[in-house]
Amino acid sequence: MGDNFDVIVVGAGLAGASAALRLAQGKANVLLIERGDEPGAKNLSGGILWGHDLDRLLPNWREEMPLERHIVSKRFGFLTRDRALSFEYEDAAWSKPPYNAHSVLRARTDAWLAKKAEEAGATVISQVPVEKLNIENGKVHGVVQGGEVVGAPVTIICDGTNSRTTLGTFIRPPQRLSEHHTELGIKEVFKLSKEEIDGRFHVAPGSGRAQEWVLSNLPDGIMAGGFLYTNADTISLGIIVNIASLKSQKMVSHDIIERFKSHPAIAPYLAGAEMVEYGAKLIADGQASAPAYLWGDGFMVCGDAAGFVFSNGILIQGMNYAIRSGILAAETALETLPKKDFSSAALGAYGQRLEAGHILSDFRKFRKVGKVKWNPRIYKNYPSVMTETFHEMMTERGQPKAHTGEIVKRTVKQGKVGRLRMLRDLYAAYKEL
Ligand SMILES: Cc1cc2nc3c(=O)[nH]c(=O)nc-3n(C[C@H](O)[C@H](O)[C@H](O)COP(=O)(O)OP(=O)(O)OC[C@H]3O[C@@H](n4cnc5c(N)ncnc54)[C@H](O)[C@@H]3O)c2cc1C
Repeated sequence: MGDNFDVIVVGAGLAGASAALRLAQGKANVLLIERGDEPGAKNLSGGILWGHDLDRLLPNWREEMPLERHIVSKRFGFLTRDRALSFEYEDAAWSKPPYNAHSVLRARTDAWLAKKAEEAGATVISQVPVEKLNIENGKVHGVVQGGEVVGAPVTIICDGTNSRTTLGTFIRPPQRLSEHHTELGIKEVFKLSKEEIDGRFHVAPGSGRAQEWVLSNLPDGIMAGGFLYTNADTISLGIIVNIASLKSQKMVSHDIIERFKSHPAIAPYLAGAEMVEYGAKLIADGQASAPAYLWGDGFMVCGDAAGFVFSNGILIQGMNYAIRSGILAAETALETLPKKDFSSAALGAYGQRLEAGHILSDFRKFRKVGKVKWNPRIYKNYPSVMTETFHEMMTERGQPKAHTGEIVKRTVKQGKVGRLRMLRDLYAAYKEL
């Protein structure tokens, strides 16, 4: 069991690059392996980064990292065939350092973070897809590449949602991905000048807005949401579709994104913009692996590979958990290296850190959020009830006026959803979101 490195990190996304940087800062001999042409080349996020975990790695990251815009408002709404209803939260504090969140393009941020790891002393190699983990006597000991073992007493697995390296091993929980709670994310990036973006989204230079929409302009049964984020001189637009609902209908994901883009409330933002990037990726939100699969003899699992993605329909957060779990795994490895104990019991300190760092507790607390978010009535019935109610309240036709209560009674009846059912859904949202 020869050791080429102290620690091998598989995958240079935000989880892997954070782990490698923290290990290099702690003077460990670390190898970071990425399958893409370079770190970030294969990564996709909406993407709004809540990056305060980076404070622990690089205090000046906000000045140095290639960030797009700081987000000053968040809009959430519903799109029916030709109507839109939304609310927007704007906060003056978000316009001031240290800011709440930033829009990012992963090809830039991930490459930058991996470079920081390299500068700190990590060995970073790209264009190398790890074939499999090297498992000896039930323990992970590095990886197998090109038929040869690259050994290390600790391997940190950060290879994303559908973690190929853990597939078919004892590390991957049975039925790790449920299609009912797995989503397909598709994103397109459009080029637009900075000035056009400032004007169209009514933002000051450097500021940006984030929008998320429930798509109710799709065939019955399909459950999907859309997002629209401003970058420095591009716009990120995408959809997130529930896989089980997509399979049940005869519609391809391309048609869903086209309907989102051509909606009257969205199309003006894109007028004349040229698409410059396209990508698709799976999201297994709220499906954090059970502790038994997060660490063991010689290994720890971080980020998407561990299922650490949270989404409640209004926001999606995975990058923050990826960074935090990567740092926590690295700190666990730094603690165990001098003791030369890489057993499951010793690496169990990672579990304690995940608990103390609120990762496990967050996913426990919100484990039922998928049931609320993927309630078909949110996509089929409620948007039409709400937009019809506002339509009735806002349209003047010289007809007798009705009290709001009468309007709501009528639109709820038209929306074919019983009042009791609606109250139950509201209670579930109140309890689980
Ligand atoms: C459409 C969409 C929108 C999203 N929006 C947001 C958002 O706005 N905010 C947010 O916080 N999160 C968002 N997320 C979630 C976020 O993207 C992920 O949670 C985050 O990328 C996880 O980081 P990671 O490092 O764990 O995994 P990844 O970013 O997936 O990185 C995994 C890395 O491992 C590499 N790899 C894979 N297999 C191998 C192998 N065999 N050998 C070597 N390397 C390998 C990959 O190439 C990749 O670089 C979004 C996701 C999607 C799909």
